[in-house]
Amino acid sequence: MSVTQSDLAFDQHHIWHPYTSMSHPLPCYPVEAAAGVELHLADGRRLVDGMSSWWAAIHGYNHPQLNLAATQQLEKMSHVMFGGITHPAAIALCRRLVAMTPQALQCVFLADSGSVAVEVALKMALQYWQARGERRQHMLTLRHGYHGDTFGAMSVCDPDNSMHRLYQGFLAQHLFAPAPPCRFDEEWNEQDIAPFAALLQQHADEVAAVILEPIVQGAGGMRIYHPTYLKRVRELCDHYQVLLIADEIATGFGRTGKLFACEHAGVVPDILCLGKALTGGYMTLSATLTSRQVADTISKGAAGCFMHGPTFMGNPLACAVAEASLTLLAENRWQAQVNAIETQLKQQLLPLATQPKVADVRVLGAIGVVEMRKPVDVAQLQREFVERGVWLRPFGTLIYLMPPYIIEPEPLSRLTAAVAAAVR
Ligand code: PMP
Repeated sequence: MSVTQSDLAFDQHHIWHPYTSMSHPLPCYPVEAAAGVELHLADGRRLVDGMSSWWAAIHGYNHPQLNLAATQQLEKMSHVMFGGITHPAAIALCRRLVAMTPQALQCVFLADSGSVAVEVALKMALQYWQARGERRQHMLTLRHGYHGDTFGAMSVCDPDNSMHRLYQGFLAQHLFAPAPPCRFDEEWNEQDIAPFAALLQQHADEVAAVILEPIVQGAGGMRIYHPTYLKRVRELCDHYQVLLIADEIATGFGRTGKLFACEHAGVVPDILCLGKALTGGYMTLSATLTSRQVADTISKGAAGCFMHGPTFMGNPLACAVAEASLTLLAENRWQAQVNAIETQLKQQLLPLATQPKVADVRVLGAIGVVEMRKPVDVAQLQREFVERGVWLRPFGTLIYLMPPYIIEPEPLSRLTAAVAAAVR
């Protein structure tokens, strides 16, 4: 089935796309297939993918092993309710998640999407303190953070972006520390943690949890901060007995050069949110992991259980693909792949820092960010990228790439060359 002009007109008039006006939508490019690191446009052009479909498609598209896992599971059952029922796909996946995450994280809650994983984490923290008979109803988080688009998640996103202003009066009120000022590779300055420490000290008995994106703040500005900041946050959470929620929905599964970004700082969170690359980008699934102690405390509370249970919880199809994706991750030597991407991104992007229109360039693992001095014209730039045979989707002042781990040097060079051409 091919996309016609009439299909595109229907799309424009009837279908909402992410963060896009219904009256004046930005153009959409019809993709009819995808394989390896390429998206196949309806007009026959092939684009090298620099986005991994928003951090998710780490093994590339149309992967035979992931396809096989999906079809094998499909022949057994695509879905069955998780209330009162369990199945091999969920058990196998959760076994793996428990084994590959820090020893302390033993209990897994499967949900539908990254945002829901964050809702689950916030609710876990609230129920935990309720069960302990303490009234702790606030979260402490960082400016420039992003945790998703549902209400709980939005309430802990950067307060100065439009979401807080748009939904004023509806969002829970939380505490915001300044974003970490110190870059990943700068010398650590102990003063950088002082505002966070002061805020936590002042509000320790009302704070249920600290929630943050470890090391890389993604959609809130693609900021990459110093591991010691995270280390200090963990120490302060321990000191004041506040839970630490690590949102590794974007950073998890190797993207930053460590399996989980928390490893850069050697810290273990009390609650860990995973999503995006969990299924290799095949379908939506997320997991929130926590410790036995947190889970047991919640289970001793008034409700006697954790109060969440979505219809598609533990969806077998998604679990089977996720399990296969984690197998691939191990087999594909992700560490070597991500290191090679990092080296090449550093070689090819860092020199752009001297360009007059460029404010900053930063690279960590398989993430490259070029920050412009002024916001880019997304539609125009995207057209140029497509003409150059690459798929990148800038936002605000940021042109960034996080390609599939399987990308080879030549297609990666096409991506960086397109970025270089754009900034010049
Ligand atoms: N947390 C982080 C750090 C994210 O990057 C995202 C997605 N951009 C989310 C949460 C929300 O995930 P989803 O879009 O799957 O709801």
